[in-house]
Amino acid sequence: MKDKQIVFPSDFIAVEEELLQGEGTYVDEEHNIRASNIGEVFTDRQKYRAKVFIKTKRVNIPKVGNYVIGTVERVQKYNLLIKVFYINGREVHPPYSAIMHITKASNEYVESYDEAYAAGDIIKAKVIDAHSIPIQLETKDRELGVVFSWCSRCGEPAQKSGKNRLQCPECGLKMSRKTSITYGKEKVNLN
Ligand SMILES: [Zn+2]
Repeated sequence: MKDKQIVFPSDFIAVEEELLQGEGTYVDEEHNIRASNIGEVFTDRQKYRAKVFIKTKRVNIPKVGNYVIGTVERVQKYNLLIKVFYINGREVHPPYSAIMHITKASNEYVESYDEAYAAGDIIKAKVIDAHSIPIQLETKDRELGVVFSWCSRCGEPAQKSGKNRLQCPECGLKMSRKTSITYGKEKVNLN
């Protein structure tokens, strides 16, 4: 596909072997890179492999395959209620309400959300259903899950300490979380 060609959501762009998936695109089950937005196709050839992305004047509506960042509003035993304030790195106003069922939290078995998330956590997740209200998310991949949180006892920023563990550098409290491998590295504006 040539650069600057206009594509529509779900349009085929390339096979996954040819290009890396970039903003505005998703990979389907047959490993094809497809458009998730309306816009112009661009390829970034700076990298080892060219990355394809779509430039669009976005209304910023969540779509399946989009990555979102949000805060955990409420923790129920089997459902997590989330407020999404970034979609694919762009801020959204007002935030979207989202929900995640416990079976979508991790590739590993999670018995109760108490052991994976807590209210106030900043999480990165993927949209799996954008037509429902609230939209539905999952955090199964390694780069998804908690990207920032605080000590539940003293409020200090928590640090990652091993897989799915956070620890407070101040008081030493250990907390169990489904953490992202990008914990502490996501650039989010926490205003
Ligand atoms: Zn603490």
